[in-house]
Amino acid sequence: MNHDTLITGGHILTMDAAFTEHPTGDIGITGGKISGIGDLSGDSATQTIDATNTLVTPGLINTHCHAAMTLFRGLADDRPLDAFLQTVWAAEGQFITPETAQIGATLGAAEMALGGVTHFVDMYWHWESTIAAADHIGIGLTTGPVFIAFDGIDNQPWDQRVANAEAAITRLPHQHLMLMPHSCYTMDADKLAQVAALADKHTLPIHIHAAEAPSEMSQVQDIYGKRPIAVMQDTGILDHATLIAHAVHLNDAEITTLAQSKASIAHNPLSNAKLASGTMRLHDLHTAHIPLSLGTDGPSSSNDLDMWQTMRHASLMNFATTGDAASIPARDIFAMATRGGARCIGLGGSKGTLEVGKDADIAIIDMTAPHMIPSYDPYSTLVYAAGRGDVAHVFASGKHVVAGKRLVADITDTTRQVKAIQSRIAPSFDA
Ligand SMILES: [Zn+2]
Repeated sequence: MNHDTLITGGHILTMDAAFTEHPTGDIGITGGKISGIGDLSGDSATQTIDATNTLVTPGLINTHCHAAMTLFRGLADDRPLDAFLQTVWAAEGQFITPETAQIGATLGAAEMALGGVTHFVDMYWHWESTIAAADHIGIGLTTGPVFIAFDGIDNQPWDQRVANAEAAITRLPHQHLMLMPHSCYTMDADKLAQVAALADKHTLPIHIHAAEAPSEMSQVQDIYGKRPIAVMQDTGILDHATLIAHAVHLNDAEITTLAQSKASIAHNPLSNAKLASGTMRLHDLHTAHIPLSLGTDGPSSSNDLDMWQTMRHASLMNFATTGDAASIPARDIFAMATRGGARCIGLGGSKGTLEVGKDADIAIIDMTAPHMIPSYDPYSTLVYAAGRGDVAHVFASGKHVVAGKRLVADITDTTRQVKAIQSRIAPSFDA
């Protein structure tokens, strides 16, 4: 068989349900899909990548971020969520336009691709700018209209926001979309119910922040007289395939409610730790079989888009808080960053594992650096030792986006523009 690309001689971790491995195997890519896997020594290809001394894995899926917030990286550090948001929202109001959002998101997408991410979920103002950014870098994106009760920095009164969202849904039939109500504390019950109705009407999943921090829990209590999970249940948000970012502050009854719903969770351990939001009950959620995935959150709260740090912190924070160093093995953490991510965004049928017919979303991890040897268990190496610098090649839907540890797309203009924006932002915030 002739493939577009053959990746030869790597140690393949398919991350399928049986965790099938090919200790020395090949992968074929044709038309953006995986066209062969295993021993393909009799096959030919237009391009061949020698993957000797590498691990070949599914691309990482970052299920929660705000990529354009790279522009505010480090602007509001060392303060809790409410104070952080005050500064960030002021900066957004002054400096975020469709143009700057695209520049920031391009930088973020470049950073993610270099770190092995092949698909990300992004919630942000001027979200169509993020589509252009992901296209420029060549990685996949799930995004969609953001809903917030007030007019917002994009100056859209509620009715106009809903109309614009519906027009965009019709205009972008090939873009993978979610409806994105920001949170319970920036919405009200009526508007949350309207978003749930839109999700019904357009058969779209929902992405929302919830149960993130103590300040949010008391705000939601003040507004609704109940906790965020109950608000989402009562407004119909939980009747959908809803991806909840954070879900840190959950009681036992709420974990049962989530387990019985179609909801899934994007765990953001670095953001939760840095903003002192709390420690998620990862092991309890894992035991309850709630679909789990990993996210970096925005680069102003965590402060980068590094899924390797995210995996390691998810694992270590779980061990530290449960006191049980056997509670979630490295293999299951790596599954959250790959197969779990795909499942949580409804793309489990086409992404998240290396199987023939699926999208060719592939990361090739260099195993030659001193910190990567010896490797007795590949999953342990990936979760506890590997970093972004070990990502040698990345293919997203078959497109070669990182080649030999270098980004294929040109971001010279982007980095120049980011520095120009920084020089405008800095004087306003004594930064
Ligand atoms: Zn977030």
